[in-house]
Amino acid sequence: MSGIDSLAQQLGGSLRGKRVLVRSDLNVPLDGSTITDDGRIRASVPTIRSLADAGARVVVVAHLGRPKGAPEDRYSLRPVAARLGELLGAEVAFATDTVGESARSTVDALQSGQVALLENVRFNPGETSKDDAERGAFADQLASLADAFVSDGFGVVHRKQASVYDVAQRLPHAMGNLVATEIDVLRRLTVDPERPYVVVLGGSKVSDKLGVIDNLLGKADKLLIGGGMVFTFLKAQGHEVGKSLLEEDQLDVCRGYLDRAKESGVEILLPTDVVVDTEFPSGDRDPRPVVVPATEIPADSLGLDIGPDSGAAFAAALADARTVFWNGPMGVFEVDAFAEGTRAVAQALTQVSGLSVVGGGDSASAVRKLGFEDSAFGHISTGGGASLEYLEGKELPGIKVLED
Ligand code: ADP
Ligand code: MG
Repeated sequence: MSGIDSLAQQLGGSLRGKRVLVRSDLNVPLDGSTITDDGRIRASVPTIRSLADAGARVVVVAHLGRPKGAPEDRYSLRPVAARLGELLGAEVAFATDTVGESARSTVDALQSGQVALLENVRFNPGETSKDDAERGAFADQLASLADAFVSDGFGVVHRKQASVYDVAQRLPHAMGNLVATEIDVLRRLTVDPERPYVVVLGGSKVSDKLGVIDNLLGKADKLLIGGGMVFTFLKAQGHEVGKSLLEEDQLDVCRGYLDRAKESGVEILLPTDVVVDTEFPSGDRDPRPVVVPATEIPADSLGLDIGPDSGAAFAAALADARTVFWNGPMGVFEVDAFAEGTRAVAQALTQVSGLSVVGGGDSASAVRKLGFEDSAFGHISTGGGASLEYLEGKELPGIKVLED
């Protein structure tokens, strides 16, 4: 039974006229008020539409960016309400606050089958508060706007936040289609994956991602490492990395992983060549990319992409894979001169016969920016942090609370 059917059952058989609060992940990249990648809005549409089709009065709650618990114009969800309306083919009412006068009157005015979006939930300090009472008080206000709750923001289910966790404890609740699909794919990556199972890691949040390696060393057959994470590994092997991204305090951790990989027969592939420049790319100066051996990064340079030999080697390592999980771009793909490593890996993933999963906000944007269709991959996950924590073996509070 789908989550939405089970919710109807909990509410006496029908959602018609019922106010259903949906936590979606609508945290899209904006350039001013222009949405540069609407992938997360698109991914949220099916659940919202099926609730509206079931006759619910749908109240969507979401965040955008990282406001500090107070309203900030640049983080308003108003442009998202317009785009959501276009994708739904129906007007989306917009409340200019989350639990205040505007929210209450907007929800009151909703007819069966209509949709409203509340203003950025993180404009309220209660949303992300570490204090259970403060968070709970805000969740009480959110819950008072609805008869039921649907959790569909996969990108935030690893957060113990009011609109993700506490509100589920206060209302009849169900898992939305998006979260259910994501969890299903992640389960296939962790329970008996088809082999060879290859994991590709990159990106810039190095220490965030090192944790997942710990768990994957027992599960994956090969681990390909690119992006900003590379340099801490290269340094751990005794090489100089110039001005590259480096986390000194993780050197021992990386050394430990390299040793454990050797013992357990997991192959860790590091790039053998790197594209460097003397400065991090900025709009003020044309990039001057130079390819150097990974073991000879000049002191005045920093690594910004894996080199062409490494791109080819990574593609070859992916060729016979039956299961692939990829998180994190191989380089600073936002700049063409440093996007080729990411392109090589994306291209190789499209050839995989079996399950290929792309996880992470920037990774998903990268494959779209490079011109790949979403359908070229088995699954593009909407949540980077959440999928990594799941793969690390951690419990996700926003999922746990739905099961309780
Ligand atoms: P995701 O959102 O897919 O989880 P991250 O947020 O960890 O990925 O990292 C994405 C960012 O990593 C991109 O903005 C990219 O420019 C940056 N990046 C990739 N390689 C490097 C590198 N060698 N040095 C610095 N930044 C890098
Ligand atoms: Mg990111």
